[in-house]
This record gives sequence, C-alpha cells and structure tokens, in this order.
Amino acid sequence: MEIEWVQRVPDHAERMREIREVAEELKITMTVHAPYYVNLNSPDKAKLTASKQRILKALQMAEVAGARSVCVHAAFYLGQEPDNVYKNVYSALKDIMKEKKKFPNVNLAIETMGKHSQFGTLDEALRMSKEFGNYPCVDFAHLHARSHGKLNTAEEWNAMLDQYQEILGKDSIKEMHIHYSGINYGPSGERNHLRLEHSDANWKEFLKVLKKRKVGGVLVCESPNVELDTILLAKTFVQMES
Ligand SMILES: [Zn+2]
Repeated sequence: MEIEWVQRVPDHAERMREIREVAEELKITMTVHAPYYVNLNSPDKAKLTASKQRILKALQMAEVAGARSVCVHAAFYLGQEPDNVYKNVYSALKDIMKEKKKFPNVNLAIETMGKHSQFGTLDEALRMSKEFGNYPCVDFAHLHARSHGKLNTAEEWNAMLDQYQEILGKDSIKEMHIHYSGINYGPSGERNHLRLEHSDANWKEFLKVLKKRKVGGVLVCESPNVELDTILLAKTFVQMES
C-alpha cells in the first residue's frame, strides 16, 4: 500500500505510530509517495530548500510509520542540459542523505518519470540511486508513456531489468520498488493513468516477466481504480505458473 503524501506530509508522529501498528497487524507492506511540490533543480533558493525539506520530512515520517521506501519526483529540466540537472539533483540529494540517521530503514527512491520535461529516465534514476546506495522507484507505465508506447514487451522489460542489475547488482531485483498501471500518453509523454483494461498495457506479460525473473519487493498500482486493479494484478500474479 502506498501512502499518498502528495499534497503535504503530516506532522502527527503519534498517528504515524498507529499506522505502523495496524500495518504490522495486517501484514501490509507500505511505501510513501513524497509531495509533488518538489524541484531539486530549482534556481530559486527558497524553493530548493523547501523541496529538500519536504523530501526529508516524508522520509522521517515514513520511518515512524514503518514504510520501507519513499518515491520522489525529483526535478524538472527547465530546458537545461540533462547532465547539468543531474549535478543539481545530486547535490540536493547529498544534503538530504547527510541526514540518513533520521531515516535509517527507509529507502529514498528517485522515480522514473513519464514526461519529457521531467528528470527521471531509467538511466538517470539508476545512476543517481547507485551514488547513494539507494534503489529507484521504477514506474514502468511512466517509461512506456515517455517512450510513446515502447517498453511494453517481455523483451524490452527484460532489457530494462538487465540494465537495473548491471548498475545496482545482481541481487538488486530481489528488493524493488515498482509502479505499474495503464497509462495515456501524447507527444510530450504521460497524460494520465488509466485502468489496466482501458489501456494498451501488456500487463499479463509484464507479470510473467516479474515472476520468471523472481523480482521481489513491492509493486504499487496507481490506477484510477486502485483497489480493483491491485487485486487483479495480485490474483493473476499468485495464480501464474513460474
Ligand atoms: Zn509518482
């Protein structure tokens, strides 16, 4: 289950402890989505500081709530060279990771993004994660949208997972943070998420690849109908022969 702190991160630590207790009781694994109002490439100092603080707060509260990974929409390119943006994001993340003792059990996951204006290709997310000993949030739907309908076959997913293992190590796929859903896209990439059945997502094939390669960790479904699609994915995955 993904806790959506996309507007703001709550302050109430006591409430976070309650969430942890209930989740443990029900054996629910949790991840967190950090606020959308983040740009680690902002030239505006106040905005950059606020972005870093929002991410740090999400990580700290995730620690208290018992969530294992926090996904972050790291930055916008703002028309700049990707290499330059990479450096800015790196330097901001370095400041956040200096506070690692405040979130020792939580992973900071740079999310792969769906729009061309957003920092977060698979390569960027993997390289940046490697720098800090983290793992990314691979949103396969976003990458499908970003590539205008590619990355929707077993061959392509296998190549992506090969790349993932090449950069983060052979065992890294045992503990992944994945997002998957249907998605609508246009010339600049992602438009909006869709129900699996209303999209071109080859979702059964996708599950087969995960099963075959023994991918572990969490898969969060950010469909417009989270419950229905999550149950559909979970049931199909469990019943599937490996
Ligand atoms: Zn996201």
